Parts: sequence; structure tokens; C-alpha cells
Amino acid sequence: MDVDRLRADTPGTARVVHLNNAGSALPPRPVQEAVQRHLAREAEIGGYEAAAEAETALARPYDAIAALINAAPGEIALIENATRAWDMAFYAMRFEAGDRILTARAEYASNYIAFLQMAKRTGAVIEVVPPDNSGALDVAALEGMIDSRVKLIAITHVPTNGGLVNPAEAVGRIARANRIPYLLDACQSVGQMPVDVEAIGCDMLSATGRKFLRGPRGTGFLYVRRSMLEALDPPMIDLHAATWSADGEYTLRPDARRFENWESFVAGRIGLGVAADYAMAIGLEAIRDRARMLAERFRTGLRGIRGATVQDLGAVRSAIVTFTLDRLPPPAIKAALSARGINVSVSGLTSTRLDMAARGLEQVVRASPHYYNTEAEIDRALEAIAAL
Ligand SMILES: *Cc1c(COP(=O)(O)O)cnc(C)c1O
Repeated sequence: MDVDRLRADTPGTARVVHLNNAGSALPPRPVQEAVQRHLAREAEIGGYEAAAEAETALARPYDAIAALINAAPGEIALIENATRAWDMAFYAMRFEAGDRILTARAEYASNYIAFLQMAKRTGAVIEVVPPDNSGALDVAALEGMIDSRVKLIAITHVPTNGGLVNPAEAVGRIARANRIPYLLDACQSVGQMPVDVEAIGCDMLSATGRKFLRGPRGTGFLYVRRSMLEALDPPMIDLHAATWSADGEYTLRPDARRFENWESFVAGRIGLGVAADYAMAIGLEAIRDRARMLAERFRTGLRGIRGATVQDLGAVRSAIVTFTLDRLPPPAIKAALSARGINVSVSGLTSTRLDMAARGLEQVVRASPHYYNTEAEIDRALEAIAAL
């Protein structure tokens, strides 16, 4: 990987040490330019006219994302963020009293809140698969929980609040063997590491554009396996998702775009396609290896700082590093680093309540390097932390 070239292609690296790629990454120049070019065309010739002119670029995100996750273009829906993408799949399922939804301890708040609403509406029950010794989902425990009342397995691949990678493929084998629908929140893993829906065996997968994929804000996507499409009834439909085919009838689109809605951030969609192509041109394995190497360097450095505690769980670690300092609360650490041009974020209890509460944590600092960061930047952040 030619890191110097990739940094030259990322204007933000000249200004900040950006260790907040789990929040929103610095976009590469081609993404930024594609968005700006389209916005300019909208202003010059009109929004519909600019979209008509950009037909090829607008078709690209479906093909690019399909290639990125080893799906077919007809299995991809472009949706404004990962949460709505996930919602469109989840709320398309039908639950009855006593149906079981299995999830993992570090499930993302928005997903869990949706489980709670569904439980309230239908009497479905939410059950949390316990973690193994490493903190990741315990695959044997999951297997032991399976019965005919399990209607959905929904887990997060890489939690928002820490470095663990859940065993998504092992979960997929259990879901497939028992014919249970499997919804994977891949918001933090897409763009950070290879994600292959065939290897994982998930039926539905959601992700966002702006995080490790380096796309524009306000973009995301949903994958729905073709064999699953007819079993799902989209919770909301419009004249794009369906056609008003006779006075008293509508016909749903045959592909995953039945989960989309008509109006969207067109420039963002174009940018999302560029971002997916950009990631694939670099290679997701190379991206994963370098991002993990930088994260591991960060963890090692933190362990050498008195009063610092690395809070990451998991046997397999992602590029998300979380930590605390004995005498300084996470928001103060974030502010102090920000004053030195270093971007990190704070992850709080209410984003992943079950996991944080079980570990007695209110807040952690989250530092999330990407492949375009450097060893020198990691060391600069570590020096700044040590000085605190
Ligand atoms: C950020 C995040 C989301 C939400 O993504 P949005 O695009 O903000 O809706 C979902 N799940 C996880 C694990 C996340 O980290």
C-alpha cells in the first residue's frame, strides 16, 4: 500500500490526525469531487436533469456494493443510513407472542430499541446470547438456545464501542442449519475488512457510507438475499418501491429496491459508489491488515501509559480502540486531544447499554485508525495521552 499517495489523496490528513473513522472517516478526493461535481450540475441544469445525465454513475453504487460484499446488484437497496436500512429489514418481519429474537450483548442501541418496540407490540421476546471468555458472542451458547420459536438472529459484526469482532460466519452456519433468518449489522466492518455475505451466510446486512467505507454522510445500504425477498413485507412503500398497477392494486418491485424510497441524496449515492470502488481498488484485506496493525500499535502504547486502561474485548480485534484514563473523564480526554488536532470520539453507556453496564462503564474514549493513518500519528496521539 502506498500510504503517501493515499494520504495525498485525502486532503484532511494535512490538517488533522483523524482517529475517528468509526464515527465518520475522511473521504478520499475522488469521493469528495464526485459529490461536489454533481451538486454543481444540479445547480447549473436542474436536479432531475443532472440525475438523468448521471445515469451511469447512479447505477454504479449497486454494482460496486454488490461486488464489495459478494452479492448481486438486485440484492442491494440504497438507504440514507445504516439504521434505516436495518429498520427496513427488521420491521419487514412478522413476529407473534412468544417468538424469540436472539442477539448479542454489544448490540447497537437503535437495533435494541427496535427489538423493544417490537416486543411491546407483539409479545416477541428478546434474548441475549452470552459472551464467551473473550467477550465475543459465544457460538456454543447460541447453538444451545436454538429452537423452533427462534424467528430471528440479529447481531452486530463489530460493535460501535470496542475492538471485538463477532464470529459472524459461525453464527451464519447455525442460522442456515436451522433455517433462521439472520440480520447482520455490518456498519463498522464494511470498508474496514472483507465482508462476504456468502461466506457469512447472512440473509440481510446493513451498513453506512460515512464510516470505514469513506463515503459521504447521509448514505447507507441494505443487502437482502434474493431468496429472502418475498418473505419480507417492506414496512413502508412508495411509488418507487411499488407501482400503482390498477385502481385497487400495487405491485412491489422485484428487487431489493422495494426497500428504498424515491427521493434521495443523489450526489451522495454517486459518492457512495465511488467510495466502494475506491476501497476495492486498494483491497479489503490490505485495508484490514493495516488498520489492525495501527490499532494494535495504539493498544500496545496505551498499555505502557500509567493510569490508562484498554477496554477492548474479543479474541479477534478490529481497528476500534477503546480506553479510559484513571483520573480524566472521556469527554475531557477527547477535548484535550482535539485541542492538539487529534480527533477521537466518546462512546457512552446508552449506545451499547447491555455491554457497558455489564462492564461497569459509563463512557470510553474511542480511537479508530484507518489505513491512511500513519505510525507517526499513532505515536503522536499516544504522546498526547501520556502527557494528560
Ligand atoms: C454507527 C452505527 C450504526 C448506525 O449507523 P447510521 O448510519 O448512523 O444509522 C449502526 N450500528 C453500528 C454498530 C454503528 O456503529
